[in-house]
Amino acid sequence: MGLIVQKFGGTSVADVKKIQNVANRVAEEKENGNDVVVVVSAMGKTTDHLVDMAQQISTSPSKREMDMLLTTGEQVTISLLALAIQQKGYDAISYTGWQAGMVTEPVHGNARILDIKTERIKKDLAEGRIIVVAGFQGLTEEGEITTLGRGGSDTTAVALAAALDADKCDIYTDVTGVYTTDPRYVKGARKLLGISYDEMLELANLGAGVLHPRAVEFAKNYGVTLEVRSSMEVERGTLIEEEISMEQNLIVRGIAFEDQITRVSIIGLDNSIASLPTIFTTLANHHINVDIIIQSGTGTDKANISFSIKSSDLAETLEVLEENKGLLNYEHIESETGLSKVSIVGAGMISNPGVAAKMFEVLAGEGIQVKMVSTSEIKVSTVVSDEQMVSAVEALHDAFELAKVAVSA
Ligand code: ADP
Ligand code: ASP
Ligand code: MG
Repeated sequence: MGLIVQKFGGTSVADVKKIQNVANRVAEEKENGNDVVVVVSAMGKTTDHLVDMAQQISTSPSKREMDMLLTTGEQVTISLLALAIQQKGYDAISYTGWQAGMVTEPVHGNARILDIKTERIKKDLAEGRIIVVAGFQGLTEEGEITTLGRGGSDTTAVALAAALDADKCDIYTDVTGVYTTDPRYVKGARKLLGISYDEMLELANLGAGVLHPRAVEFAKNYGVTLEVRSSMEVERGTLIEEEISMEQNLIVRGIAFEDQITRVSIIGLDNSIASLPTIFTTLANHHINVDIIIQSGTGTDKANISFSIKSSDLAETLEVLEENKGLLNYEHIESETGLSKVSIVGAGMISNPGVAAKMFEVLAGEGIQVKMVSTSEIKVSTVVSDEQMVSAVEALHDAFELAKVAVSA
């Protein structure tokens, strides 16, 4: 007998019928002889609707009140699911994040889990109960309600699996696994049977919304075996593990993309040793996340620095740069919105030179201009215009032969 943590996302619990379907999947796992802890998200688009209502009241709502509001979504699902499981004749109990012992840092909107006090869950499991836990939420040491960031229920599930030393964590969702790229955008996308933690972490960080990046981080750090699979179809999903066989010697395992990117360029900056740290410390102090950075004009007395940010941070970035113009000593700022980041990811790149070159050739062949580039051992990211994002992904998917990935159920 083992312990399985199952997580069901918003679309999998979107209405009462779907919640009853989830109750069946939970019961099956219990009938297999396993202890079961289930983590659920808010029903359907509930979180989006809650955000939307708050924004009708304020364009910059208090982060504390947003957490108070958003955590209500998951609380509805846990009670309904516990009822549906009880209705099938099993002993089930629902817990909010804080009742489940989820302790987070004191940050609203994007808190990290610090500790999970598992005594209560362990006692219930010992008594044969099925535990239903609200994803995405926690409590600070001071008793404030927090959330883990959008998509954070995945992280609740993996963190619980690590804390309870579960045998496996199954992430049930509306696709049948992790695909070579988002199957909603690219028809030829193929399900991968396996992917390594490092590749999955890159894909998740680079925009593949199928898993929350911190969930993958937890899984890697604590060696949790993760499977992403369908809540509707009964077929094997994608296993995320330390080592996987090189499926058909793929160099690129997946393609991730993200729109709403903006490039900001600081032109005519004093080429002093202090300029770079001053700019990026100033931005970091305002919690502005900077991604790709390009510096040009080194060796002359004026330099230019370009960096990419999320478009939603543009207004604040421009404000911060303007406020600090005296300190930063630049001539002017330029910005370009309407950009996207398209990234190829694969552990096979480490030992195969020329992958970036091939990526640029493919994009150039499609008439797609690359505006920024960044690389790591296992990824190459390019910034292109929004209108060309999907064609860039499709062209790369073809060129790196991802449609040839063998699929078996
Ligand atoms: P849930 O509500 O179950 O958490 P999400 O919407 O967060 O579901 O994640 C599933 C979605 O992730 C899919 O519907 C798909 O559009 C998207 N996605 C993005 N990249 C990938 C990928 N590489 N493989 C599979 N799905 C992906
Ligand atoms: N309900 C939250 C969201 O929509 C958390 C989650 O679904 O993982 O982002
Ligand atoms: Mg999700």
